Amino acid sequence: MSKANDPVLQSWIPVNEDSDFPIQNIPFGIMKKGKGHRVSTIIGDQVIDIFELNKRGYLSGLDIPNSVLKNEFLNDFISLGKKKTNKVREKISDVFKKRSRKLKNNDSDRKAILNDVSKVELTMPVKVGDYTDFYSSRDHATNVGKMFRDPENALLPNWLHLPVGYHGRASSIVVSGTPIRRPKGQQIPADSKQPVYGPCKLLDFEMEVAFVVGKKTELGETINMDNAEDHIFGLTLFNDWSARDIQKWEYVPLGPFLGKNFGSSISPWIVTLEALEPFRTTSPKQEDPKPLPYLKNTKKRNYNISLFVDVIPENGEGKTVCETNFKYMYWNMCQQLVHHTVNGCNVNVGDMCASGTISGPKRGSFGSMLEISWKGSMPVDMPDGTQRKFIQDHDTVVMRGFGTKNGVRIGFGEVTGKILPALK
Ligand code: MN
Repeated sequence: MSKANDPVLQSWIPVNEDSDFPIQNIPFGIMKKGKGHRVSTIIGDQVIDIFELNKRGYLSGLDIPNSVLKNEFLNDFISLGKKKTNKVREKISDVFKKRSRKLKNNDSDRKAILNDVSKVELTMPVKVGDYTDFYSSRDHATNVGKMFRDPENALLPNWLHLPVGYHGRASSIVVSGTPIRRPKGQQIPADSKQPVYGPCKLLDFEMEVAFVVGKKTELGETINMDNAEDHIFGLTLFNDWSARDIQKWEYVPLGPFLGKNFGSSISPWIVTLEALEPFRTTSPKQEDPKPLPYLKNTKKRNYNISLFVDVIPENGEGKTVCETNFKYMYWNMCQQLVHHTVNGCNVNVGDMCASGTISGPKRGSFGSMLEISWKGSMPVDMPDGTQRKFIQDHDTVVMRGFGTKNGVRIGFGEVTGKILPALK
């Protein structure tokens, strides 16, 4: 494990107990500064401008071109390779650890490098070239199968043999805080055979975790289980907004389309796989059936990361409607990436692969309103006396996620999105 993960490390930047960003995290993101953008990280509530850090000699010896750090996206930085980006993480850990005085004692450097998180804008961290959404939580797939197909045969025959997925749309992936407009489209009313056109009535979230590809492959090349982690840079929280009524009418036979691509929201920080190392945990047993050899998993490739979803009405108190965990994934990220490239499909730096809705075994751990309200049959009582079957106009959905070990909490920050009424 990297020395940057050492649980005894503390920073001279104050870090609250409930902060997602102790010195052991050092995630990467993009901060807008004046007219430009900077590759950044965060400790406590201080956003660190890595361009300024490099320019002022605090990353000496790493030989990183300034253009990589004065950049609208992380893609060029990620393309430096894990060996280099991990060294940046370790160097930053050194500069900000408690006993390190050089930057702490230099007022003008500190002023140029540190920014209060409440005063800066965090923008899309990566330019997403291609986006794929999987469907890898067994409880989620089982719940959906029970609701819409056959409760006795909830999983389709392929589900236990391969990580089911579809190609989504990268253009509509937005950073936390971006409002989402209620989509319009075709729906089929319950008592009708004719579709109608109008605003989606069954707007939903999906609590997901996405990984960012950190190393490209060539067309024809295949990633295997042993090298898959080399290709995963880090993780972000992912809200796969879903219009259930549009989805239901359109999805046969080719899968999700306009019910999904009107918006997906991500958290602004990419937490590296290395920072999440302490949270590695066993993966679910895959015995019946055993996956084909190319998908066989023999290591701890799941992560114990608690995930939460709050729904907050416009002028009311919010409610946590979901508490789940990334460890519930049946197919892990490595299996997803291996399967994605088994046919020779190439991946690029910045590509994003989302997990699929993450549901645990109980209602309180279901990762979508579809499941929580069981298709609308069990509404959720809100603190303001209203009820929710799905998400209403002006509601804000907030997702959070973190792991805690040895007193160190590594988190993602929030991904928030407010629903605006459909355009006339
Ligand atoms: Mn999804």
